[in-house]
Amino acid sequence: TDLAHIRNFSIVAHIDHGKSTLADRLIQATNTVADRDMKEQLLDAMDIERERGITIKANTVRIEYEALDGENYVLNLIDTPGHVDFAYEVSRSMRAVEGSLLVVDSTQGVEAQTLANVYQAIDANHEIVPVFNKIDLPASDISRVAEQVEDVIGIDASGAIAVSAKTGEGIREVLEAIVNTLPAPKGERDAPLKAMLVDSWYDPYLGVVVLVRIMDGVLKKGDKIKMMQTGATYPVDRIGVFRPKMENAGELGPGEIGFLTASIKQVRDTKVGDTITHEKKGCEKPLPGFNPSIPVVFCGLFPVDSNEFEDLRDAIEKLALNDASFSYEMETSAALGFGFRCGFLGLLHLEVIRDRIEREYDIELITTAPSVVYHVYMKDGTMQELHNPADMPDMTVVDHLEEPRIKATIMVPDEFLGDVLKLCQDRRGIQLDLTYAGSRAMAVYDLPLNEVVFDFYDRLKSVTKGYASFDYQMEGYRADNLVKMSILVNDEPVDALSMMVHRDRAETRGRAMCEKLKDLIPRHMFKIPIQAAIGGKVIARETLSALRKDVTAKCYGGDATRKKKLLEKQKAGKKKMRQFGKVDIPQEAFISALKMD
Ligand code: GDP
Ligand code: MG
Repeated sequence: TDLAHIRNFSIVAHIDHGKSTLADRLIQATNTVADRDMKEQLLDAMDIERERGITIKANTVRIEYEALDGENYVLNLIDTPGHVDFAYEVSRSMRAVEGSLLVVDSTQGVEAQTLANVYQAIDANHEIVPVFNKIDLPASDISRVAEQVEDVIGIDASGAIAVSAKTGEGIREVLEAIVNTLPAPKGERDAPLKAMLVDSWYDPYLGVVVLVRIMDGVLKKGDKIKMMQTGATYPVDRIGVFRPKMENAGELGPGEIGFLTASIKQVRDTKVGDTITHEKKGCEKPLPGFNPSIPVVFCGLFPVDSNEFEDLRDAIEKLALNDASFSYEMETSAALGFGFRCGFLGLLHLEVIRDRIEREYDIELITTAPSVVYHVYMKDGTMQELHNPADMPDMTVVDHLEEPRIKATIMVPDEFLGDVLKLCQDRRGIQLDLTYAGSRAMAVYDLPLNEVVFDFYDRLKSVTKGYASFDYQMEGYRADNLVKMSILVNDEPVDALSMMVHRDRAETRGRAMCEKLKDLIPRHMFKIPIQAAIGGKVIARETLSALRKDVTAKCYGGDATRKKKLLEKQKAGKKKMRQFGKVDIPQEAFISALKMD
């Protein structure tokens, strides 16, 4: 296809504003997929994505469209992940296209992720077409949303298109705007090959599949290619396009988006954002701004049943093959036995991986408290990265600690602003900005990532009844007075419950943890002290009293079936427990104890 007849675009939106539904309608309106093959949210492939209604990895579809001018166009849609955890991948896929549809739910208005995503599009120099969705709903208010888009985002909303992705109203206008408003890609066919590695994943039949955008030159089957970051070279087995099923093609030319396979062993060998060129007569300079995504949140994953360790290893290795941003290494915990210390791009990423291990591989997991990466500066002048509070060196050899900070943007209706400010304050936030757009406030805070990883988002949702939206970006490291707090149950330290806290909050956190654990740990035949300590100093203490003998005697009475049921129940309960010295601690304690409220 010649460049003038190609349009490449992405759709940016806040979650639930209708990005996937709009993509479905565009695919359907152009007969890209036969009606009988059409199912809802075609681009959201994985089960978990469907269930949670989020798109995790970029997906792509090539649409052929005969426009009202009588010409045939190729429209390539890259559906980018909508979540902050995948911000780097969003920014790369934005650079693979020239324009964006900005979808705003006209019953809701601009939200935090609308802003974050549209700023990415603006950064990538996109032409932007605002699309106001859900006009079939009575609460739809087009003029209010148009005003917001102009005031808050600062782009012209006069060319906005009002649509219902549900009924299909306005879809033709969207297709025409893509052709007429978005620019055609630029590129030179005769120049050396320069292609962007936009995404990659593991396909059980084809091996690693690489999504590419050709900037210059031509990619053909059988070509020998080179990854400029890693230096690795491969012969290309297959190239093609997504319609949205994979379809082989003879070549990919400038401006085109498609896939290649090249017997690449693992997704790790492909770096999102890398430049692909030919091994011989390659381009001289790679595309600018390569910057691999790095894990920022770490936690331990341990099998509840220690016999399942090998199964867990297998599951983790398989998942890592397909997800270069997920890292892991073996970990042993005195309390939990063998497991893995895993690194994630953020909390959602963590949850998705954990869910997949439990569901797809049927392994019950104990997840330890998520922790961020601290920088520990030693008295000898060296610096260590701390991924696990259990590895914290003795304070006598430590000079100071630095923690990662984020810049958070929160949008919220006025009435909840007070609660949101209080929440941010409680989490050691520093207010950077506070502005209003209509009856919505936008608060910008500098916050320690540590205070956000665990349950900030849940708390934010609950204090605002779900009306707040939240987005963040990493800002860098800063020193603060941070200490390791240990938890002792029956005088034994439980390493999986140790955590890094700010010194000023240690007593409060310690007390809360002990109280929670007192409720979560079942009573035993003996008295159990539960303590929080910094170094050797106990800062909080609770005592779980002993169970009275006659209670159990009563329990075990009664008829045989009841007894059997009780025993079965106990067995099931046992599975979820872990023994620490003489004490059984239920799995949920590891997560619940850390929630602050
Ligand atoms: P995404 O998170 O941006 O991909 O949003 P989805 O496409 O998954 O849509 C979120 C919800 O809004 C789904 O329940 C859709 O069925 C619904 N939805 C999307 N577009 C429309 C629309 O135009 N009208 C109505 N009434 N509902 C819509
Ligand atoms: Mg979606």
